[in-house]
Amino acid sequence: MPFYHIWTIGCQMNKADSERIASYLEQIGYQASSKVEEAEIIVLNSCVVRQSAEDRVINKLNALKSLKRRKNPFLLLTGCMVDSMGDDMRYRFPQVDLFFRPQAFSKLAQFLADRHLAPDELEHNSVLPKPSPSTFVPIIEGCNNFCSYCIVPYRRGRERSRPMEEIISEVEELASRGTKEVILLGQNVDSYGHDLFEKFEKPEKLDLAKLLTELNRIDGLARIRFLTSHPKDMNQRLIEAMARLGKVCEHLSLPLQAGDDEILCAMRRGYTVEQYRALVGRIRRAIPHIALSTDVIVGFPGESEEQFHRTFDLLYELKFDTVHVAAYSPRPGTIASRKLTDDVPPEEKVRRREMVEHLQKGIATEINLRLLNQTVEVLVEGQKNGKWWGRTRGDKLAFFEDDADRLGQLVKITIEKTSPWSLQGSLIYDWVRGICPDMTAAITLSQPGNVSVKGSV
Ligand code: SAM
Ligand code: SF4
Repeated sequence: MPFYHIWTIGCQMNKADSERIASYLEQIGYQASSKVEEAEIIVLNSCVVRQSAEDRVINKLNALKSLKRRKNPFLLLTGCMVDSMGDDMRYRFPQVDLFFRPQAFSKLAQFLADRHLAPDELEHNSVLPKPSPSTFVPIIEGCNNFCSYCIVPYRRGRERSRPMEEIISEVEELASRGTKEVILLGQNVDSYGHDLFEKFEKPEKLDLAKLLTELNRIDGLARIRFLTSHPKDMNQRLIEAMARLGKVCEHLSLPLQAGDDEILCAMRRGYTVEQYRALVGRIRRAIPHIALSTDVIVGFPGESEEQFHRTFDLLYELKFDTVHVAAYSPRPGTIASRKLTDDVPPEEKVRRREMVEHLQKGIATEINLRLLNQTVEVLVEGQKNGKWWGRTRGDKLAFFEDDADRLGQLVKITIEKTSPWSLQGSLIYDWVRGICPDMTAAITLSQPGNVSVKGSV
């Protein structure tokens, strides 16, 4: 059987696209290989959100030149590096056989059919034949927001929601094939459905709250997550749906980006610090033990020391479970790169980034330490260095040892060791019916000291 090799960097959207490309290549008879040298089809799924990511893609493309000369595999490039002006790309990277934009799977299928490597009539089936216990499901593509620093809307286009029925049937199919958790994806999942509502004039409003309600009914599915939320679009109806629906995990990704109103305005984020703080308050009141993760950019054009400290202080005040911090990187074509001067020196950006990382390490240490001796539910996703690993409902990485095959099971473990990045625990064998149960629905523990699932870790 011939081999394919996929190399992916960037966000979960890219990972989801790569899973779908892999599924298609397997349907037409290719087998995955981690060795690029033996692959007949090589797919690079690229990211250009920051210069450092773009540099990695260019290095990879250059490194593959000699393999292309020696063995002539098909080299395909997708992801956010591929823009609509393909001619320039063809000139810069002649070693690439096909450029296709994110999710342009039909272009991939046509390319392979033209070379008699795939049948003409084969429809690209997006449901993975052997999905993992936790599977990404894109629900909305593109972004309408045009934050001043961000290249995504230029590369992924305007928002397009997938029809709700299509998503529901995909998740039903995934659940019947063993998926226990779905992670609904979009650059801005909170605006899901607004284009469907306008287009089809349905009497009932289609939105993320409605989609979550429908997915919550699917048998066999135990958990639902979604990301990324935009603070300006996260409404009360969605918060209430999260609080009400048992399968929706107590975990939310809510990018802050900056803790200063002037910077937020220059970023074109559409909310103030006070509005963000109030939103976090409403979310935490509705879902008391929710795990919050956020994104922050330091060294945005014009960011003074005081403005940076406002971000720092806000992170200290709000205490997120996870903070993804990035140094501002000018992206050609974006509003910030056209209109603002990148005036924070690189070493100062690094200093600010490291300050946030240091602060967050302390906060995460404290938050995770509270889980010591607690019992948590883990969905087992794999094995590493002899230990099973998975995630709690609060998206904490957790490890435990066991001789039995636990892949895809929902298990309970007692936490014995914590770090800022992960938890270690031991399996509870005698929890319910004398065996470690493979739970398929969220269950609330009643033993004292244990953590209840709604509002749990
Ligand atoms: N849609 C999400 C939101 O509203 O924040 C985030 C999507 S963006 C692709 C992922 C993260 O990359 C952002 O949250 C931001 O922190 C970071 N990012 C985007 N553009 C950046 C830039 N030019 N420089 C540094 N970081 C950037
Ligand atoms: Fe980029 Fe802003 Fe859209 Fe997020 S919301 S993808 S940061 S433009």
